[in-house]
Amino acid sequence: MSNAPPLNPPVRVLLGPGPSDIHPRVLQAIGKPTVGHLDPYYLQLMDEMREMLRGVFRTKNEMTLAISGTGSAGMETAVVNVIEPGDAMVVCVNGVFGARMTDVAERAGAKVTKVEKPWGEVFSVDDLKDTLSKAKPKVVGIVMAETSTGAWQPIHEIADLVHDAGAMLLVDTVTALGGLPVEVDKWGIDIVYSGTQKCLSCPPGLAPVTFNERAMDVVLSRKTKVQSWYLDLTMLAKYWGAERVYHHTAPINMTYALYEALSLVHEEGLEACFARHALNHEALKAGLAALGIRYAAAEGHRLPMLNAVHIPEGIDDATIRRELLTRFGIEIGGGLGAFKGKVWRIGLMGYGSRENNVLLLLGALEQLFTEQKHKFEHGASIAAATQVYAAATKT
Ligand SMILES: *Cc1c(COP(=O)(O)O)cnc(C)c1O
Repeated sequence: MSNAPPLNPPVRVLLGPGPSDIHPRVLQAIGKPTVGHLDPYYLQLMDEMREMLRGVFRTKNEMTLAISGTGSAGMETAVVNVIEPGDAMVVCVNGVFGARMTDVAERAGAKVTKVEKPWGEVFSVDDLKDTLSKAKPKVVGIVMAETSTGAWQPIHEIADLVHDAGAMLLVDTVTALGGLPVEVDKWGIDIVYSGTQKCLSCPPGLAPVTFNERAMDVVLSRKTKVQSWYLDLTMLAKYWGAERVYHHTAPINMTYALYEALSLVHEEGLEACFARHALNHEALKAGLAALGIRYAAAEGHRLPMLNAVHIPEGIDDATIRRELLTRFGIEIGGGLGAFKGKVWRIGLMGYGSRENNVLLLLGALEQLFTEQKHKFEHGASIAAATQVYAAATKT
């Protein structure tokens, strides 16, 4: 066998739906010496990492940890620990990830009632009232930041409704966490999961989760074993807790990465981090509007970190995305499911949410649109974005 070519990944600007651009400090952290998963150094690092996770989740929940696996492993952990075969669960579906949650819940044996809304829209209290009183669910699942549509689901009022109906609220914050306020304690969310490669700007591979006391009481009083051995919180708790009982080997160097990524968020400050995401979104939005590009999500419910936009008439989706990647090194996302070929998904997540990325992307789009003989006012998108930045620095 001849030698495989040397590893030489290209440097990209990751402006898709995740993974996002990684801060150099996080990449360095991964390369630090591996220690054992019961090494006192590692155990202390785990505790400090958990405390920083509680900070971004804004929770005091004891059961806050990082699951070994990507965001979908977080989704499975959230579902399989609280659901026993035959339990009723309501899942809100307005995009790909609500649909995935339905699949996960059904595989765990839940009797699932779906509440659906068109892609790009969000759920109001009125959309859920009737279903909750009829289905009497144990758990209601909803996605806060639907990455397939760019829609921002408000959680607070829904949480009150779900609790009044006697159910627990389970929220997907994979794309939301680190880019939008996620108020686990204030809103009373019972079960929450996230991922590392969206607004936390850490490579994919860990899934932060947090369960409140009410949810843990349910987990600890189950009649049946948790369907997944790997994701069983009752066993994981003994490794993350004082006993330090071996369950599976922790992904040590990924924990270094998440530790560093969370340190960066806390050094910047959560509020400053949210404000940065909001500002770069406003600048991009102004620039895209100047190119005649419309958003897919309803006005007032657009995510700052994920800009899902309609591809302009006459523009070839595949050509633009290929040229962005090969000539400019920029990755943006195509549409999923119902939005395939119709929508671009432009992520400004975590370390990727920066002024230089917004201006670079708008400039590249202007160049490619010109080559495709698309009609627009040259330079207008850059001018619109720079005005947003100029106005922000004045205040
Ligand atoms: C990315 C994503 C997931 C799945 O995470 P993976 O890391 O791809 O497993 C789940 N929910 C939402 C909202 C996401 O954006």
